[in-house]
Amino acid sequence: MAEEINNIAAVDIPTLLSSQNAFFETGNTLDVTERISKLKALQKAIESREKEIAAALFADFRKPEFETYATETALILSELKYTIKKLKKWVKPQKVKSTFLNFPSKDYIYPQPFGKVLVLAPWNYPFQLSVSPAIGALAAGNTVVIKPSEYAPATSQLTKDIFAEVFPEEQAAVVLGGVETSEVLLKQKWDYVFFTGSVPVGRIVAKAIAPNLTPATLELGGKNPCIIHESAKIGLAAKRIVWGKFINAGQTCISPDYILIDKRKKTEFTEAVKKEINAAFGEEIKKSPDYARIINKKNFERLQAMLEGQTIITGGETAPGDNYIAPTLLNEPSLEADVMQDEIFGPILPVLSYSEESEIHKIISHYPDPLALYVFTEDKDFSEKTLQKYRFGGGAVNDVVVHIANKNLPFGGVGSSGYGGYHGKFSFDTFTHKKSVSKRATWIDIPLRYAPYGGKLPLI
Ligand code: NAD
Repeated sequence: MAEEINNIAAVDIPTLLSSQNAFFETGNTLDVTERISKLKALQKAIESREKEIAAALFADFRKPEFETYATETALILSELKYTIKKLKKWVKPQKVKSTFLNFPSKDYIYPQPFGKVLVLAPWNYPFQLSVSPAIGALAAGNTVVIKPSEYAPATSQLTKDIFAEVFPEEQAAVVLGGVETSEVLLKQKWDYVFFTGSVPVGRIVAKAIAPNLTPATLELGGKNPCIIHESAKIGLAAKRIVWGKFINAGQTCISPDYILIDKRKKTEFTEAVKKEINAAFGEEIKKSPDYARIINKKNFERLQAMLEGQTIITGGETAPGDNYIAPTLLNEPSLEADVMQDEIFGPILPVLSYSEESEIHKIISHYPDPLALYVFTEDKDFSEKTLQKYRFGGGAVNDVVVHIANKNLPFGGVGSSGYGGYHGKFSFDTFTHKKSVSKRATWIDIPLRYAPYGGKLPLI
């Protein structure tokens, strides 16, 4: 695992920001052809460095090359291609119906970039979560500063190199550093802040930018329930859950956090999960090239402590020197146990069972609004009832995690799992102020609205 990045940034942040301000003021970012050509250059730079991106993620936490492609590079390239294809349409002022009260007029929504955008990113998908918001910010005509995570130093450095190759610093810059660097960044005046990370740091960010009334998107986390109904196809559920839970070694904001299963199906499910873990990673999981590691010692120890006092159905092996934790299933932990307090964010999956459907509600409503919710069932009434009943960021029926891959779906949380949504056109919209403009005609001026008002009331 690569060395962590120093806490303090090597660049002078206020100077960088005033250069971005000056660049934005030139109006250069308003030229859509220029925006597209820069996004194409970014696409080319990423395509030419695919192997290096995979190597950086492997150095950071032994992320398998296939996972890096599927969950980082391919997602970003697809986002870039889609944005490049659609941008000319998105930037056009949009004509809307005018109102009789303003007759005669033509009314429009003009997209307007906010200005200077700050992107603060976490370590778990260090490339994707730094670059994806930046694509939206740049496509919308903003400048951007990205602060990737100090915990994924190889990927963060490579992200910096790629951006430096494509953009002048006054348009897009990557600043490396830890918490102190974030703090300095948050003291500056931004026009938009896009934060992905934990709930406690989300609160710090929201507070830090409040004095300037800076608009923001907060992409946070939560405890994501995964309900398995009696009618579910258990073998398929186990296969899909093993994939979505143990990809990235469980360090995924939308991975299922705990299982809530009909008691009658529990043994069949846990047996199927054991079989699927074996099919995916073999007898010696530690030697599997397809299983990542925990990002660092601190998180390894946090996760290891969650296993204490728990009944393990399968897994439970840990290797401190290697930050390895086996894919692990826990049997019925109490809601007071450590593992059932906050988001787990690792390869540990508690299995809770219910006898009556009313127990599902008791458990889900014990926690704040999750970022994701999953339901496995062949009963459409049950899935619809569940989808309508709970507040959650996004989710899936009969699968996990996959909703993130559709750029026609906004990705984001609700309540304590965050606010705002992005991907595809939603990213462009996130970083765009929509100006309302009414273009009035001058060939007639209806006098109704002007004083004196005497005798006009019945006319309205
Ligand atoms: P984190 O909140 O610790 O860090 C995120 C970023 O904030 C990093 O760049 C870090 O340097 C910075 N930061 C940390 N402490 C700070 C402070 N006190 N002041 C200012 N900046 C600070 O999150 P993490 O550990 O990197 O990532 C894991 C968390 O991110 C999980 O909770 C996960 O659910 C969440 N997450 C959410 C999404 C989403 O899309 N909603 C995606 C991935 C991860």
